[in-house]
Amino acid sequence: MSARILVVDDVPANVKMLEARLSAEYFDVMTASNGAEALAICLRAECDIILLDVMMPDMDGFEVCRRLKTDPLTHHIPVVMVTALDSPADRIRGLEAGADDFLTKPVSDVVLIARVRSLTRLKMMTDELRMRAITSLEIGVQAPERSAVADTGKGGRILLVDDRQSSYERLASLLAAEHTVDVEPNPTEALFHAAEGNYDLLIVSLDLNNFDGLRLCSQARSLERTRHVPILAISDAESGTRLLRGLEIGVNDYLLRPVDKNELLARARTQIRRRRYTDHLRDNVQNSIEMAITDALTGLHNRRYMESHLATLAEQASTRGKPLALMILDIDYFKSINDNYGHDAGDDVLREFAVRVRKSIRGIDLACRYGGEEFVIVMPETDLHVAGMVAERLRRSIAGEPFSVHKGTRRIEVTISIGLTTLEQKGEAVADVLKRADTALYRAKHDGRNRVVSQAA
Ligand code: GH3
Ligand code: MG
Ligand code: MG
Repeated sequence: MSARILVVDDVPANVKMLEARLSAEYFDVMTASNGAEALAICLRAECDIILLDVMMPDMDGFEVCRRLKTDPLTHHIPVVMVTALDSPADRIRGLEAGADDFLTKPVSDVVLIARVRSLTRLKMMTDELRMRAITSLEIGVQAPERSAVADTGKGGRILLVDDRQSSYERLASLLAAEHTVDVEPNPTEALFHAAEGNYDLLIVSLDLNNFDGLRLCSQARSLERTRHVPILAISDAESGTRLLRGLEIGVNDYLLRPVDKNELLARARTQIRRRRYTDHLRDNVQNSIEMAITDALTGLHNRRYMESHLATLAEQASTRGKPLALMILDIDYFKSINDNYGHDAGDDVLREFAVRVRKSIRGIDLACRYGGEEFVIVMPETDLHVAGMVAERLRRSIAGEPFSVHKGTRRIEVTISIGLTTLEQKGEAVADVLKRADTALYRAKHDGRNRVVSQAA
């Protein structure tokens, strides 16, 4: 998919020039001639990256950027400031406004395309995470945009890889004003150090003695533990082509020596904020995956998970020639527990029931809440005889000890009925196994409840 780039400039000739260069590289280009128009396009989520002119009448680029970055709807869109000014003071104003990068007019073709490509990769990854995190937003997990907009980017953990003492001493003392900094002067130790340290940012000097800093950057990108840690490269002014190479292999940003104090701090904050934001998104995705497979009341797996996983377990049992047992457990007269003690008491019983189930089964067994007061337990490598003993032990653990409800003020007797069966060895459909267990459960209910009925395949 080609990225959609919004070019914003009040001078039509500038727009045309950037449009032509980007179109030649197959980017989709949209244009706007003032800040208000640009904001409207971003709010409609029509672009992936913005190239934003700084000097514009009415609303200047800094203000447009500030508004984009403080609005949760547009906060995640990368902004590149395109500026004729190139003093550190202007760069800092832009970074303070939340800009992700700078291009200085006249814009070099190679730098333009390298930066846009690198930001496109970042945007695609964030979009993917945002999309997946939408599920968790819908069920009420805090929107990551809110905390990201409020994040100052301070208080990060930084690993500085630099072997020149005068250089790393100065950089470390500048950074220490806002962050915790570890220095690693030995580049061969750096990757290990980075993987162990849980850092928010790696700052790598590209001018190391007898060591290629870019190799370290590329290794950090391919290692699982450091893959998502942003990298800020620091380089001597003359090594421009190496910087471009760095951006291609995944270096996120760079600074040229002599390093300006405020620009260093601003760029570090920007990378750390971005790191925290994507981490947060990633956590949300992880949470929503867990929520999608877990029953909220009991913490057991839910039916959807059980049904997909049961197929895998059944297939494994078939190919390995091992038995697989399955039981359905149903609480007896549960409706009358609700009717007599209230729905909350019913919930207490379900929770405590799940606790007792967990105590009675092995780690490799799969327990799930199949419906309201119906549960399924799948036991790999277990034959009907052994499963029958487990089921009987479970039945006794429920009937033998009253359940406490209403915060321990009442105790009520609960019993369960269990239908039990095993998988046939010739690749039987799991639906048939479930049906057979259900038939056995029906018999247990019919025969008077509080009992186990086994049904051989
Ligand atoms: P049987 O012995 O035949 O199983 O009778 P039963 O009353 O247990 O079965 P029935 O299926 O008639 O009723 C199940 C009840 O479980 C009905 C429903 O309101 C209740 N229930 C389902 N889910 C929940 C829940 O999450 N919490 C509570 N408190 N009750 C639930
Ligand atoms: Mg019941
Ligand atoms: Mg029922």
